Amino acid sequence: MTTVKMQEDHIISVDPATGDAIGTVPNCSDDEVLAAVERSRVAFLKWKRTSFAERKAFVMSAREVILGDLDGIASLISRETGKPVAEALAMEIAPVLDLMQWIARGAEKMLRPQRIGLGLYSLMGRSSMIVYQPLGVVGIIPAWNYPFSIPLGEAAMALMAGNTVIIKPSELTPLTGLKIGEIFEKAGLPPDVVQIVTGGGLAGSALVKAAPDKIMFTGSVATGKKILADAAEKMTPAVLELGGKDAMIVFDNANIELAAEAAVWAAFANSGQSCCSVERLYVQKGVAEKLTEKIIEKTEALKQGVGTDPDVSVSAMSSEKQIAIVEDHVDAFRKAGAKIMTGGQRNGSLAGLSSGGDLFYEPTVITGANNKMRPMQEETFGPTLPIAVFDNEEEAVAMANDSEFGLTASVWTGDRSRGRRVAERIEAGTVCINEVMYTHGIGRTPWGGFKNSGRGRTHGKEGLMELVQPQHIHTNRLPFLPNAWWLPYSSSAGSLFHDLATKFASGSLLRTSLMLPKLMRRTRELLKLRKGKK
Ligand code: NAD
Repeated sequence: MTTVKMQEDHIISVDPATGDAIGTVPNCSDDEVLAAVERSRVAFLKWKRTSFAERKAFVMSAREVILGDLDGIASLISRETGKPVAEALAMEIAPVLDLMQWIARGAEKMLRPQRIGLGLYSLMGRSSMIVYQPLGVVGIIPAWNYPFSIPLGEAAMALMAGNTVIIKPSELTPLTGLKIGEIFEKAGLPPDVVQIVTGGGLAGSALVKAAPDKIMFTGSVATGKKILADAAEKMTPAVLELGGKDAMIVFDNANIELAAEAAVWAAFANSGQSCCSVERLYVQKGVAEKLTEKIIEKTEALKQGVGTDPDVSVSAMSSEKQIAIVEDHVDAFRKAGAKIMTGGQRNGSLAGLSSGGDLFYEPTVITGANNKMRPMQEETFGPTLPIAVFDNEEEAVAMANDSEFGLTASVWTGDRSRGRRVAERIEAGTVCINEVMYTHGIGRTPWGGFKNSGRGRTHGKEGLMELVQPQHIHTNRLPFLPNAWWLPYSSSAGSLFHDLATKFASGSLLRTSLMLPKLMRRTRELLKLRKGKK
């Protein structure tokens, strides 16, 4: 067994490429998780009063700590996940450093109090504004596939919004989770503002049940459902970033060379273990053969091996459980009549590298796929690229939307207006035109799925808004007169309220002005009553 070893009180983290144990961490109990949440609540009372400038200084110095240990962190991520060091740098560390500087510099402006135009109410001396209050304790439960950038990016955004944070890293990547805690500690963050609780699903569930003020979850649909059920008990809100079965649509006027390169990267980077990996490629009939040939040629040129070798492009998968799903799906494709053009098995030449199992699965290109085949509907999360052919735009859109998932998609075409038209018809949270997969790396843009790919958003202004609660402050600048709609009612009140419905509620200043005599009569009535009572 080359994957994580869970014991009652500790977890041994294992390098999936070599099978070597690389560290031991505690398997936190429910009580330990609960105690962390309680400490976090106390820390929040001070943290929420810090200024944006203070928060920015901490986040920016956390960046400096990362920059000071770039290679060490990249190597740790590579060893715990199996991904190439190059990918840890390009797809995790660089994007999260960019997100950190963006949110540190931009949060104050994005969370500045906002005035609301009140229309006719402002003539009555009323004004309204929204101020953004932090939530409190934010519990982050990430997956193992981007164990550094996803929880760290969410933590940086939560901190800038004035929240405290608890991260429960995946049991497959606990050392990377602890590294995030160490980075904030070195950056001088006050105690308990960011805490890491290591453990498996039980620790995650304990965190949800401890009722933090928000859960930011990244993982499978099955776990997302359990989290929602646990969160319902105390009505804890949750953002869910779930699975994908992302479609790439290539029209016959696309740049085929570029589309082939893009497909190979988006299907096989991180051994296909990205939520937004291309898992279904739909190509227009006229260019299907040419695109497929190019994809196969480029796939066969990829070097597979241990991720710390700088020439390696595809490394080991994360776990036996994950590689077993890939084997099942490739088998199902074969049985359903699809053709395995390259790959389709574990890489026997690398089997000896691992002291435990054999987690290298060859990048696999499959032709003759169609949506009726089971693995075209279930998430594979592995290095497979099934290709299906379509005739026209209508068919391409229908095929792409025929899925329970809707995280991202891409449209490849030389005609930008077609690109835009098709993009808007695809049911997915992000659709790229002549681009693929990488926008999670642009922290400024929102991230999240349609359908079963998720609920809510991370990243971007939309993601920041998930980490605050808008508070409406309403002021009466003329606090002298009783409101006409206050008690007690009378026949003149009834007549005025009739006008409220027919004139004031029309939004027209002219029509509203016609009700002024009635308004004055009613106000005099209320003032008389006030005097009479004295
Ligand atoms: P998973 O659902 O098995 O685990 C995710 C996390 O949840 C882990 O930390 C795990 O310990 C924890 N967990 C497990 N059971 C729990 C419970 N009952 N209560 C609380 N926490 C619990 O997922 P995984 O295998 O780690 O990740 C793979 C999945 O993540 C894929 O489906 C992938 O598409 C998805 N993912 C989505 C995004 C996105 O942005 N949408 C990004 C990365 C990964």
